[in-house]
Amino acid sequence: MIVILKKNPDKNQMDSLTNWFRSLGVEPHVSVGSHQTIIGLVGDTSRVDMDVIRAMDIVEDVRRIQEPFKNANRKFHPEDTVIDVGGVKIGGGHFAVMAGPCSVESEEQICAVAQAVKASGAQVLRGGAFKPRTSPYAFQGLHGDGIKLLLRAKELTGLPIVSEIMDASHIPLFEDVDIIQVGARNMQNFELLKQLGQLRKPVLLKRGLANTLQELLMSAEYIMAGGNDQVMLCERGIRTFETYTRNTLDLSAIPVLHSLSHLPVIIDPSHATGSAKLVQPMALAATAAGADGLIIEVHNDPAHALCDGPQSLTPADFDTLMHKVEAIRPYAER
Ligand code: PEP
Ligand code: MN
Repeated sequence: MIVILKKNPDKNQMDSLTNWFRSLGVEPHVSVGSHQTIIGLVGDTSRVDMDVIRAMDIVEDVRRIQEPFKNANRKFHPEDTVIDVGGVKIGGGHFAVMAGPCSVESEEQICAVAQAVKASGAQVLRGGAFKPRTSPYAFQGLHGDGIKLLLRAKELTGLPIVSEIMDASHIPLFEDVDIIQVGARNMQNFELLKQLGQLRKPVLLKRGLANTLQELLMSAEYIMAGGNDQVMLCERGIRTFETYTRNTLDLSAIPVLHSLSHLPVIIDPSHATGSAKLVQPMALAATAAGADGLIIEVHNDPAHALCDGPQSLTPADFDTLMHKVEAIRPYAER
């Protein structure tokens, strides 16, 4: 349920209204926008009498929300959420590119890639330290040492970092990681999502291989229900009958998620396509369609990458891509 208040509501009346909601066992979330103030109610609203609220002085309207996601719902929070990652803003017209290797492999590798992507205009460095691999015999990542190397690259370049978490017990290792990534395979690891909800740190939540957009929003809701509202949604391709590409990039997720939610939408054309030559066209299409950012795999030696080499751009190709993204941005949707 949402309660839309009249312009410039009286503060005392607003406080007594929110206290009254709490006494009924529902949690009010106040969203103060430039045009409107909205109180979103989370919990069992069956005891809340809509007619009583509607009759109040400061209230303009009351509506029930049909969707099961509340905190993530644009009706609860009409203005775009802007996430601040160490000074880099994402969402609400702010666009950011995250780039780096699939996996952190060595100090030389991560530092070289970090310097290259920074020079081309990337604002966030990506790098996996815990790798979810289909085969248990494949490179699993450098774990805690990988995080340390990422932090070294952060120190060297000043770029904030994003890295994937696979288990809640690893949260202490991510203390200095700027954005915690939840990979596609963990999108519905609800216990992990609840733990991340207890943090006050940005989370990049990737869509599962076979999950609907509503399920993605419900996973965001798990994080937000714990009080962590810094969630970015990431479309990274879904599994379809098509086998030419690694996955199928659902670009319509951008306008659909923007209409349903206030959270920033990031596109990952690398995992979506699995092929370096397809990354640029899909990145440009995503930019034009209004994505709030991109996450792109870049490796200084893709042929010898320990993970996802075929979809990794060289620094030179990434540089070309960044120029084209910049040229398209002024014409992007929204
Ligand atoms: C990744 O970003 O390295 C990754 C494993 O992505 P996804 O979870 O989308 O497969
Ligand atoms: Mn990868």
